[in-house]
Amino acid sequence: MNYIFESSAVICGNLRPIKILWKNIIDFIFPPFCAICNSTLKENEKVVCESCFQNIKFVEPPFCKKCGKPLLKVRCENCRSNKFVFKKARALGVYDGNLREIIHLLKYNRKLSLAKRLGRMMNLVLHTDDVLKGADMIVPVPLHQTRLRERGYNQCDCLSDSLSESSKIPVFKKVLVRKRATKSQIKLDPEQRLKNVEDAFVVKDKKEMEGKKVLLVDDVMTTGSTLNACSDALLRGGADEVYCLTAAVA
Ligand SMILES: [Zn+2]
Ligand SMILES: [Zn+2]
Repeated sequence: MNYIFESSAVICGNLRPIKILWKNIIDFIFPPFCAICNSTLKENEKVVCESCFQNIKFVEPPFCKKCGKPLLKVRCENCRSNKFVFKKARALGVYDGNLREIIHLLKYNRKLSLAKRLGRMMNLVLHTDDVLKGADMIVPVPLHQTRLRERGYNQCDCLSDSLSESSKIPVFKKVLVRKRATKSQIKLDPEQRLKNVEDAFVVKDKKEMEGKKVLLVDDVMTTGSTLNACSDALLRGGADEVYCLTAAVA
């Protein structure tokens, strides 16, 4: 278990000097292209160019003050059908177009450098919100051990590392645990999603959690059932309040 966390920390961190030198030689011979628009990447850009990052559909008002979903009606349908125990949720952008591609590259193609840029952008959202920026600790939504072993890293850990670096809020990756493997939520309807993650999470270190304002970090919020199940576990574990921040909202 420790080995997996250690290795994901190394992957999320910086490359060794020899690797950087080798990468520079390769980049000189074969200039890297943006994975989305195919333009040549500048020196400071990795995998996806800055212009593609800026073309994310950002979440702009009007959005629900509780769950962060862009609002089509005056009353949020998502909050009407769910009883959220977290205080509020916010997202950087809409899970569509460039942001959807960026998250796919991060999650399924091991393009972990994208988490750094996304985490820094999520920090800008954090700083527009007086409640969220008052959090004491960042907690990533955990993967089950089996899934972590398969993938080799948890993309939420990588997003949390970058967010923590920019916001200076400490990150705690081991306090919340996924105690049973859950099915992927992708093909499930809202009711099945709720059932699927019910009681799937538990706080391991209640002392660490006591009276804390927790900022829970995930890549995508769809119905909010995973964030809500994690929030429920965090509150049972002694947290004072839970806020959520995701890269995208679907
Ligand atoms: Zn591009
Ligand atoms: Zn809502």
